[in-house]
Amino acid sequence: MNDNVGYLSPAEREAIREKNLQEREKRIRNDGVDQYVEPTGKFSYLEEDPYTPIAEREPLKDHVTFAFIGGGFSGLCAGARLREAGISDFRIIESGGDFGGVWYWNRYPGAMCDTAAMVYLPLLEETGYMPTEKYVQAHEIWGHAKRIAEQYDLAPHAVFSTKVTNLTWNESDSVWVIETDRGDCMTAKYVAAGTGPLSRPKLPGIPGIDTFKGNSFHTARWDYDYTGGDWTGSPMENLKDKRVGIIGTGATAIQCIPPLGRDAGSLSVFQRTPSAVDVRNNHPIEPNWFKDLPKGWQGQWLTNFATLQTSGLADEDLVHDGWTDIGIRIRDRLLEDVGRPDKWTPDAVIRCYECTDDAKMVEIRQRIDDIVSDPETASSLKPWYRQFCKRPCFHDEYLPAFNRPNVRLVDTDGKGVERIDETGVWVDGVHHELDCLVFASGFEFNTDYTRRSGFDITGIGGVTLADRWQDGMETLHGMHVHDFPNLFIVGFVQAANLGANLTSNLADAAKTIAAIVRHAEDTSASVVECLKTSEQEWVRAIEEAEFATIVGGEDCTPGYYNNEGKPEGRRHKLNTNGYPPGAVEFFNYIEEWRTSGEFEGLEFRKTAAIR
Ligand code: NDP
Repeated sequence: MNDNVGYLSPAEREAIREKNLQEREKRIRNDGVDQYVEPTGKFSYLEEDPYTPIAEREPLKDHVTFAFIGGGFSGLCAGARLREAGISDFRIIESGGDFGGVWYWNRYPGAMCDTAAMVYLPLLEETGYMPTEKYVQAHEIWGHAKRIAEQYDLAPHAVFSTKVTNLTWNESDSVWVIETDRGDCMTAKYVAAGTGPLSRPKLPGIPGIDTFKGNSFHTARWDYDYTGGDWTGSPMENLKDKRVGIIGTGATAIQCIPPLGRDAGSLSVFQRTPSAVDVRNNHPIEPNWFKDLPKGWQGQWLTNFATLQTSGLADEDLVHDGWTDIGIRIRDRLLEDVGRPDKWTPDAVIRCYECTDDAKMVEIRQRIDDIVSDPETASSLKPWYRQFCKRPCFHDEYLPAFNRPNVRLVDTDGKGVERIDETGVWVDGVHHELDCLVFASGFEFNTDYTRRSGFDITGIGGVTLADRWQDGMETLHGMHVHDFPNLFIVGFVQAANLGANLTSNLADAAKTIAAIVRHAEDTSASVVECLKTSEQEWVRAIEEAEFATIVGGEDCTPGYYNNEGKPEGRRHKLNTNGYPPGAVEFFNYIEEWRTSGEFEGLEFRKTAAIR
């Protein structure tokens, strides 16, 4: 293999590697994920809905054929596909006051998708909707969620402002008993849980976090009453004489720092680890071009995106963005150095990834020097890790925000904010007085299933899903769990695992669920359960596979991608990997599986008793 990367010599690459490790060392902490705390006390507002008043209603004690927990894109797509499959007796249970999931809750200024809308927004052809821009803002995404609900008449099936608290399998009646915080005790023949991988806000366990007397809030519940403005981008006029601080510089902060810089009297950005921020190049979508796309275009785009993003072969790049650019660079390097795809071993993939990544990260760091005028700020904004150690970011207004006279980067050199007191934030012995403190500190990921979802799932014999998965997820297709009949887990792990475009995983899962339920109903089955042997086989394949770990990685700087730098061995492998052959192969495999009518690995039974 040729170790030169364009203009980078092996010695330069070695120096990058050393610097990456030094920066990583600064950030490794003993407490790992435990450095974050759950929102309690002063922060319990994070469990509440500031947008929609709770409508009084009588507790539900009825039965439906299908209940979906979560009214985000997974629940919306499932509702649409169930309806298409002729299942009309379904219910969508949602903790928020409307559909939308993360796009209902996250209304911070600047919020938008960072995967192209043409692939990110599901059911574009079915709804005939044309996104206005390549990357659309959160309120437009929410509008699309509501459009899907409208098109498939899902609102009458929704139970909003309702949190599931317990989900228990009743074996004698072959139904799930669903209890909620509204006193409901309903039953459903089938249940799906689509509660999202990053839905529960978390807070940094910084000493004194609850002592701050100014206004503070998490990005997931932006306080527009205090800031003024709204999520369409209107100026936050109340901030013009305020000293605002923001803790965190991840994918969320990258998006809300530009509008905060525009509107705040002063803005202090408290940074522990800089994000890698690449070009976004957003632009309006041309209606005439869109109108002329051939039927079936979105499926082609989705396949094209998944193929190129995972370094596969395709003649053209339809989406043409930062995500596909990364995949194509790795692929081209592999073709040049190793040859045909059947020769691509995990080792070769990693080596080619590292080669292309070194060059990519040099470009990303150079871009900072080109844009940010103060050399010290520019230097502190430079990320020293591989691009996929953290969620790659794409933005064209983030870096220029640091050229504003009112915006200051407070770099903590990997240590994080020291403490918080009544009037502000301490970093390295220096106090920063603030009127308003924003937490852009992210969401629970890879923590216990009950903690993330807010409810226990209890299957046959009283086993809970949290216990069953204590040492890592065990499923068939990422969706079915033995001893948890008629239950569908909707996610992406142990399935396509296409993290760059989460909605494509969810939209595809909806088709699978609808096909299984249709088959069960057609064959008068009471119970659908995956066979233990099939589950074991699926899990073993993931466990034994040698993955080219591009996302996260033990030697990465800490973050939620690598369990905050604390290797977990088997558990991490099972909780973060997908179908070993890759995303496109999974989508092909599962399409064939669900349309074959065989549903291999599932058992359809007439009664619960025969096992
Ligand atoms: P992240 O978990 O990515 O970021 C949390 C931030 O808080 C990090 O910068 C972290 O620093 C920082 N932090 C934590 N503790 C401290 C401390 N004590 N002092 C200073 N800083 C601290 O959360 P985000 O909300 O930014 O993003 C979460 C995910 O949400 C994304 O990765 C993405 O998957 C999704 N998202 C998707 C978007 C989309 O367009 N589709 C848009 C926005 C988010 P450190 O890095 O050092 O840990």
